[in-house]
Amino acid sequence: MEEFVGIDLGGTKTMVACFKDGKITRRVMEKTPINLNDGIEMLTRMVREVSSSPSAIGCACGGPLDYRSGVVSPLHMPQWRNVPLKEIIEKEFGCPFYVDVDTNAAAIGEYFFGGAHKYRNFIYITLSTGMGAGKLIDGKIYRGMGHPEMAHQSFSITLKKASKTFDTASHLCECGAKGCLESFISGNAIHAIYGRRAEDITDEETINEIATNFGEGLRNIIALHSPDGIFVGGGVAYGLGRKLLGPATDAAKRNLKIVPFPSIEIASLGYDSALMGAVALAIHGVD
Ligand SMILES: [Zn+2]
Repeated sequence: MEEFVGIDLGGTKTMVACFKDGKITRRVMEKTPINLNDGIEMLTRMVREVSSSPSAIGCACGGPLDYRSGVVSPLHMPQWRNVPLKEIIEKEFGCPFYVDVDTNAAAIGEYFFGGAHKYRNFIYITLSTGMGAGKLIDGKIYRGMGHPEMAHQSFSITLKKASKTFDTASHLCECGAKGCLESFISGNAIHAIYGRRAEDITDEETINEIATNFGEGLRNIIALHSPDGIFVGGGVAYGLGRKLLGPATDAAKRNLKIVPFPSIEIASLGYDSALMGAVALAIHGVD
């Protein structure tokens, strides 16, 4: 029986799993080293640990990357710049290797292995240290000239609950721009604005402020894409759960008058969305 290997290559940790007979048969996890050569060595070793002869390998990786050439430059992994990952892994294992942006992979994972198969126009949103999204139309990844960055939509808000030391005027998004949605609601942004990690925030007013801002972002995403289903994953989403998604959905609905309102749920595969997407990439390839 064929073995397919999925890799979720993250800035802090990497997960690798072998998929055989319709299920994960073996999986390993390691902290991702900062050094590039150590990282490549870790990847090849972890693949060998889960499979002796993979038929194909799929990988979810932070963007930017070129899914055709398999050259990756994940933003949050500073030593990984223009790394020909496809060439390296295919030479090492002699089987096809496919790589895609982690949020695309998570969307694909939810489509093939999670609860998203019922949706024709599906958007997966991750809200963790950063924010990102992947969009599928009939199970196929929607691609623009590059990967669409829904988290970097223009966004204007008043922060009432920000900590006293937070300076709105000089606050920039991690992409370098001013006024991106991500720069108000990602895990890193929440820490900068409110002086606490998202999971440590307990007072309802602050959570509602974050949720409302997220909801306004959702409103824009729904108005522009008219999806039938949205899944929200990532550490901030799992940490705050319904406390985030309830008021965010209400805020999105409030001023969305003529667009049908989609189903909005917490992602069904939890922290495995991107890993299962990597398995799906190994099985189905990228196009
Ligand atoms: Zn930005």
